[in-house]
Amino acid sequence: MIAWVLGWSLLAQDPLTVFLDFDGGALTHGEDAAQGQVSCVEGSVEYPAYLGTAAEAAVITDAVRVAFEPFGIRVVDQAPPPYLPRTTVMIGGHSAPLGVADGVNGLACRVDCDDAVPYETVFVFSETIASASAVGAIAAHEVGHSLGLEHVDGAMFVMNGVSTEGGRAFGDSCAPLSERTPTCVSTHAQHCEGMAQDATAELLAVLGPSGAADMPPAIVVHEPVPGAVVVAGTEVVVDIEVTDDHEGVGWQLREDGLQWERTMTGSAEPVALQFPEGEFVVVVEAMDQSGQVTTVEIPVSATRDGRPPPSGGEDTGDDATTSTPMTADGDTDADPTAREDDAGCRIQATGTPAPIWLAMSLGWLAVRRRRYAR
Ligand SMILES: [Zn+2]
Repeated sequence: MIAWVLGWSLLAQDPLTVFLDFDGGALTHGEDAAQGQVSCVEGSVEYPAYLGTAAEAAVITDAVRVAFEPFGIRVVDQAPPPYLPRTTVMIGGHSAPLGVADGVNGLACRVDCDDAVPYETVFVFSETIASASAVGAIAAHEVGHSLGLEHVDGAMFVMNGVSTEGGRAFGDSCAPLSERTPTCVSTHAQHCEGMAQDATAELLAVLGPSGAADMPPAIVVHEPVPGAVVVAGTEVVVDIEVTDDHEGVGWQLREDGLQWERTMTGSAEPVALQFPEGEFVVVVEAMDQSGQVTTVEIPVSATRDGRPPPSGGEDTGDDATTSTPMTADGDTDADPTAREDDAGCRIQATGTPAPIWLAMSLGWLAVRRRRYAR
């Protein structure tokens, strides 16, 4: 007992968002599940939607939630924001579009020992499965493969490779492995003697328990200073740092009025933006795998001469209007998707931002946090 507690406490335990996708859609070869990419799909596939009722879909969602209830998994049936890494379960159709033999109920691209690839896409071929609760059990089964679990004997277990019954559980004892040559032998051996698998111990090792302490994402705005007044048309460096206490935080920069947004991952290089004349709010929104969201709004005024607009000043308690030189390291990404807004004003990322002068106004930084229901 102590040995395996020590064993899994040494590994990172990171919660996971699992998205049950009932809508189908285009899938292509690749590793980014958030972009509809699947490692074991060659070329592209138009995956069919689920044809059951909304009530049946709710039964499936409930079944997956119940199976993963002890663990740090958030099961959602509405698409997370595109910037959030996630594991996707495509639910619908049958095995033929993926080139898989008839009679197969689901597919995971790999048995992913120790969850080495944290975000993946798996499939449940629901057209050939009798009941919604069985679809839910097979969805949990395929996600189990993506977290490093293998087939076990015992029809009562989710990871049984033969049963098509609903209502199965992962089980918290050492169940005999079905394969003679399992893939993740050393992982199973941390929890069980002989060729056996304790699914609950392994899932806890990878995901941690449900409801474990989990901080919301933290956002640090290096530039621009909130409330900055800039010269319209010059390049403004946006330098943001997003951190979290677990892997898997995703974030986005956007300016709604300009219909500009960019998905960011990890620590991103600064971006240089050009604002036309007007008032803008650059929004930084970050979500972690538990669904906790942190949002920071950075108001920016762009005027012809870089001076505050004449009406300004509801927050003039501190009248220290300081000019701050901004420099950038010039290593920004070119953005081929830069868009134009209705007024024809263009905002884009460019290569080498020039130093500009900002007027600083304190007290504008607004941080909001909210917690999504798990
Ligand atoms: Zn399987």
